[in-house]
Amino acid sequence: MLIGAHVSTSGGLAKAVSRGEEIGCRSIQIFNQSPRAWKPTEYSEEDFAEFREAMAASQVESVIIHAIYLINCVTPDRDLARKSRKALIHALRVGDGIGADGVVLHPGSRKQEEVVPAIVRGGGLIEEALSESESCPLLIEQMAGHQNILAHTFEEIAGLIEAAGGDRRLGLCLDSCHLFASGYDIGTYQGIDRMLKESDKAVGKRRLKALHLNDSKEPLGSRRDRHEDIGKGEIGETGFARFLSEPRFEGLPATMETPGPDRKGPVAADIELAEKLKRRGRAARRRRNS
Ligand SMILES: [Zn+2]
Ligand SMILES: [Zn+2]
Repeated sequence: MLIGAHVSTSGGLAKAVSRGEEIGCRSIQIFNQSPRAWKPTEYSEEDFAEFREAMAASQVESVIIHAIYLINCVTPDRDLARKSRKALIHALRVGDGIGADGVVLHPGSRKQEEVVPAIVRGGGLIEEALSESESCPLLIEQMAGHQNILAHTFEEIAGLIEAAGGDRRLGLCLDSCHLFASGYDIGTYQGIDRMLKESDKAVGKRRLKALHLNDSKEPLGSRRDRHEDIGKGEIGETGFARFLSEPRFEGLPATMETPGPDRKGPVAADIELAEKLKRRGRAARRRRNS
């Protein structure tokens, strides 16, 4: 597992790499533009080249882009759908430019609508966005299940992937906080096993491409999405030791989106703690298997 964090691109794309390096990240996640505004940030080929050079020279092995929160792929509102399509294409093209391992997407809320037509519409929009970009993977994030936001269940995610044509570029991002909020007790071995069994069955093993490492302020099954620093929430240190040491997560980029001590995001101590818990978890698994 490549443990890292969401970092700011303030001052230029390549700045994100040094920010990640400073706190000991092996993977980073960035926004390709301000997450709460539609206006895209225009990058040049030089910006992309500078980013790729910074990555090549650093210990950061993987970069993930998080698409903006305003996107709603499943909306029947034509104007919102048009803006969403454009924003998603922009994210994927930046992903192509910087060599990202994926664009993570919240597909959107279906509001009061039925699930099936929302999935069909969302899949159509995602398929179009893929066709307007080259090769960057698009990773659908499993959501906590609040406000009728789609992709709460693995069946909904599988439906979206199918409705989008089942392209090889389509994948899955699992967030420890969202899984916990959805009722998977991923702080236990049994909970992790059950979750992966269901995910593999519905979505497929090879589609799992990225993780988000967030503890949860809210209890198991709450369907509320409130991130807490690793080890300080309801999942806790022991739970994270198990989650971080899961062998099936080996090699995946795993970024924190936690408040951090100053509410400015994770710091070096948060990354160190996660690395320590991963080692502790591995030792516990060895004892368990012997
Ligand atoms: Zn997300
Ligand atoms: Zn979340």
